[in-house]
Amino acid sequence: MSVETLLTLTGVSKSYPGAKRLSILRDASLSVSRGESLAIVGPSGSGKTTVLNILGTLDLPDSGSVALDGMELTRLSAKDLARTRNQKIGFVFQQHHLLPQLSVWENVLLPCLAFAQKSSKSADERAFRLLGRVGLAERLDHLPGQLSGGERQRVAVVRALIQQPSLLLADEPTGALDRQSAAEIGQLLVELNREEGVTLITVTHSPELAQRMGRTVTLADGKLVPVR
Ligand code: ADP
Ligand code: MG
Repeated sequence: MSVETLLTLTGVSKSYPGAKRLSILRDASLSVSRGESLAIVGPSGSGKTTVLNILGTLDLPDSGSVALDGMELTRLSAKDLARTRNQKIGFVFQQHHLLPQLSVWENVLLPCLAFAQKSSKSADERAFRLLGRVGLAERLDHLPGQLSGGERQRVAVVRALIQQPSLLLADEPTGALDRQSAAEIGQLLVELNREEGVTLITVTHSPELAQRMGRTVTLADGKLVPVR
């Protein structure tokens, strides 16, 4: 079976202006196959979030190419980028970023409302199935404040998957959790990567979480290099 490439970074450079210009990525390249799971590790400040933001179209590189599903992302209009981000990419961050005044159910369906007046029947069914899958079937009406940290992060994971993205990006998804909850979220991400066929890229400081991914790259001298 041939392995299909989902995502490629080619010759990507990124620097930030300041008193001394910070050169974070220097001619960095990466190729990720559909369905893979990948960890990005590296010291604090090495540029892991910068890479993830560029992959997720939240930031643009200074130069180089980013292609998702054969589409060159650096050339899309703002409108097409917003649609691509909404429909093809799911995000999980260190903090859950759920809206405190909305229920679990409403938080999960929020991404479906970006380009539509109401969520579709299939989205509702998917929300119900996924919330059941992560053990929150009885918590649909709860507010985020009524959940534990691990439960909130599980809601954030379901929200990230609600539009059936091809790519799930996670930036230190277990970084704010206790050991037990961190292990559970790590396990869940790996299982959903397989079950949903979603390609998973996670930035992490946790060797345990990195070890669960199919392979690991690290940031060294502004490049992404394989470590495992
Ligand atoms: P990591 O996620 O590996 O900790 P980041 O990608 O967040 O690293 O940041 C890499 C470096 O770039 C850090 O030194 C950070 O302070 C700097 N940086 C990140 N974003 C900006 C920005 N928007 N403007 C200026 N400097 C930034
Ligand atoms: Mg970071």
